[in-house]
Amino acid sequence: MRGAALAARSAGLADGWIELDRVKPMALMEAHSCSPVGIWPLNPLFANLPTTVFTVMSGLAAEHGAINLGQGFPDDEGPQDVRRAAAEAVMAGPNQYPPMQGLPVLREAVAEHYRRFQGLDLDWKTQVLVTSGATEALAAAIMALLAPGDEAVLLEPAYDSYAPQARVVGGVPRFVRLEPPDWKITREALEKVTTSKTKIVLFNNPLNPAARVYSAEELRVLADWCTAHDVIAVCDEVWEHVVFDNRAHVPLYALPGMAERCVKIGSAGKIFSLTGWKVGWVCAPPALAAVIGKAHQFLTFTTPPNLQSAVAYGLGKDDAYFEAMRAGYARSRDRLTAGLRAEGFALLPSEGAYFLDIDLPASGIAADDETFCRRAVVEAGVAAIPVSAFYETDPVRTVARLCFAKKDETIDAGIERLAKARRLF
Ligand code: PMP
Ligand code: GLN
Repeated sequence: MRGAALAARSAGLADGWIELDRVKPMALMEAHSCSPVGIWPLNPLFANLPTTVFTVMSGLAAEHGAINLGQGFPDDEGPQDVRRAAAEAVMAGPNQYPPMQGLPVLREAVAEHYRRFQGLDLDWKTQVLVTSGATEALAAAIMALLAPGDEAVLLEPAYDSYAPQARVVGGVPRFVRLEPPDWKITREALEKVTTSKTKIVLFNNPLNPAARVYSAEELRVLADWCTAHDVIAVCDEVWEHVVFDNRAHVPLYALPGMAERCVKIGSAGKIFSLTGWKVGWVCAPPALAAVIGKAHQFLTFTTPPNLQSAVAYGLGKDDAYFEAMRAGYARSRDRLTAGLRAEGFALLPSEGAYFLDIDLPASGIAADDETFCRRAVVEAGVAAIPVSAFYETDPVRTVARLCFAKKDETIDAGIERLAKARRLF
């Protein structure tokens, strides 16, 4: 029996696709007690996790020579001056361990950046901590804030690292299901999952993969609920600068009473189109920031100093850079939108983050998102992300996510191949 399970597992890994099956972690925990992986009973939480959908889809895209509109990354190299600043810092040094909390120059730049763009008042010495990407910032925040048995509210679609990170420290995720077309948060839905153990909510705004920017009303609903139940909001705002059509990003942190219960997370990867750099940060009230720092010191301890100083330089760039970055992405969004509409696709609104979502049934595609994405990459040569991968419970299966942070020729080729994919159904 165990041999058969292992054989099925290897077959799945070889074919790369079974990994997309979202196996229920709780069921796996139970199954684990009688079926260890290999000869050691490894941590079932990780041993039985599927590989992330982004890695699976990029792997399939490479294998099939597909246009990759799946995993979210730009297909250019990012701003030259920021890269030059990093290159010069590598040569000039220092290249030894920077301070555990991050280079002062970057912590000051983060505080100043948020003063300039979001009107926040942050003390860089006690409230800003540099991490190796937002992923590490999220892990450190979750480790520091959740004690075993504490509950974390996750709004689905939820970024894939949230639930495993909560579970590994003994936290219990409670899911709120958001659905298209408006992916709206309501007080009723929040109340339904609230218990005396509710400790944190993970709040991603703008929302990947829904490309949604929450309204002022929803921010107020969430803030009121946090205050009423004494909940800490872990705000994943990596997409804060990627907002379209004259929207302004409003951090939950700025709402009355929220500065004392918000952990705000950002990433240079998105702000400077440098996803591989993995320079992120956490801003939090001093008492929370201090404990998050304790978790960070044993996750990565530090982040490459040269990249930190280049990001500090970048955060100080004038407003024109940030406006041009948004305008460029908006142009790409509009190009992909126009091309896909002309081919008969129905699309959901793209308000922020560089993603555009296909409404499959409204596009005349009678298949679920995984089937569509699998056939699109294998038979039509274009990769997308099935949005059901962002759910554990009752997934929305009608939406496929496309990344438009691409050159015009990539977008045009993607449109052609998506049109071919649509004709398969
Ligand atoms: N949160 C969200 C919502 C994201 O989309 C991403 C990456 N795109 C991350 C966190 C991770 O950011 P980083 O690459 O800085 O770790
Ligand atoms: N955040 C990126 C996305 O949503 C991917 C990050 C990753 O590959 N882990 O596509």
